[in-house]
Amino acid sequence: MTENAEIYRFLRSASCCRTCCLRFFKGPADDYFMSVEDALQKYGIAVDDSPTDDENPSKKVRPNTCVACLGLLESHRMEALVEQICTNDEFRKYDCQGFNTSVSLPIAVQVRQLSLWLSLLERFPTRFDSCKAPDITVRDAFKRILTRKLQERLGRKFSTSGAVVNFSFSYVNEEAELQLLQKVKPEVFVGRKVDKQCRNVFITRNAFERNFTPENVSLDQFRQHIEVPPAIQGESISLENVSFTGPTIFLAGRYNKISRELSQTPWLIDGKRMRENSVQEIMTLVVGPYFGVPPDSLIFSSSGREDVDVRCLGEGRPFVLEIPNAKKDYLEETVAVKFEKVIDESKQISVRDLQLVDREELVHIKHGEEDKHKVYRALCFLQNPVTLEVVKALNIEEPFVVDQWTPLRVLHRRPLLARPRTIYSVKAYACKRNDRALIVDIVTQAGTYVKELVHGDFGRTKPNFSSIIGQPIDIHSLDVMAIALDWPKKLSR
Ligand SMILES: [Zn+2]
Repeated sequence: MTENAEIYRFLRSASCCRTCCLRFFKGPADDYFMSVEDALQKYGIAVDDSPTDDENPSKKVRPNTCVACLGLLESHRMEALVEQICTNDEFRKYDCQGFNTSVSLPIAVQVRQLSLWLSLLERFPTRFDSCKAPDITVRDAFKRILTRKLQERLGRKFSTSGAVVNFSFSYVNEEAELQLLQKVKPEVFVGRKVDKQCRNVFITRNAFERNFTPENVSLDQFRQHIEVPPAIQGESISLENVSFTGPTIFLAGRYNKISRELSQTPWLIDGKRMRENSVQEIMTLVVGPYFGVPPDSLIFSSSGREDVDVRCLGEGRPFVLEIPNAKKDYLEETVAVKFEKVIDESKQISVRDLQLVDREELVHIKHGEEDKHKVYRALCFLQNPVTLEVVKALNIEEPFVVDQWTPLRVLHRRPLLARPRTIYSVKAYACKRNDRALIVDIVTQAGTYVKELVHGDFGRTKPNFSSIIGQPIDIHSLDVMAIALDWPKKLSR
């Protein structure tokens, strides 16, 4: 008999189900995509040669519950679970192209895995290793089988960013079996604080995994209190709860702010609203319902921000909406176009390039903020008519550095700091319609306070336009014209 066949025979005689036997050959995921008989054949095992096989109808004996998976992996149970999910009304609300599974199993399953591991080490010392798990875990086998079955039934693909089906299983003998661990290694439980909130938790999964491995538990000590291989039980594991969690979706785009009376995010002072609306709210009200999520649970972030009275023109400011527990994981182009149209109708903002992006892409918006260039256009006024000297003085092609102390107007919410900021270029134009007006285009490092760069903030920004031209200058209005961030990708539609 081959060693594989001996292992199989041994595990079957210990009352492991066939799928659990297969787990100990540590084969690829494909093993769980075929019948267990075919998979076992790959390891030289002809299923019907086992005297303890339970499919013999003449025996008419109810097979024992598998000592390893406690019945979890039995095929009729897996079928029933798939049926339960596919017909679940709650799950049907998730219109997701992908799905994922998560499973919580009793710790008794791990105690039993340890017992089997110890028995295999004793019996097959050259085949198994005390620091390398002998099997594909029950959890992984469960997920592999279930994934395949759900893919077939739902016609959807497994995806880490799909809707998650969460299973939670319990076992009536969980506590009794875990109590025995205290006898095996009393030192682990000395001085252990009992958490009053979860009194039922005798040992946490982490503590079990840390303290109970073949390397730090002696077989003799273990065997004195816990059966090796594991004891046969009539009780099987039972499904306690199935719940569903939608994926977190990221919707990116660029926005223009056309209003000088709109804040970027809800503007509250002492709980009182200062503005009726905000960039964020206009978007989330349109987007939230489509993804089945309350608008106020969407998280808005953008590449920098502008003041309430500053418009954002040009190609717009990149932003992303994080949509947690979404009921959909896709966005059709026609819908994206409709979103853009509806948001445009606000007449306060306009969006473009709406698209779903991966979480990894968020680095673009969260980092490199300091290195970005921003292009502004300021409408400024002098106390006297604009002269050629003034226009010339404010035509600066070489980059220069200004020292900016935190402006007085934001000092109540930002720390007092002096920060150097690079101004890459300045270009001023006289205005035909008003001889005291100047239009100034400014390219700055992100994070520059532009209003203060113009008037100087009582000398707190040095140099400033006022010091450069040697006379007072005021800023009337400001627009962001460009943000040098080549993300998200531009869409032609
Ligand atoms: Zn099993």
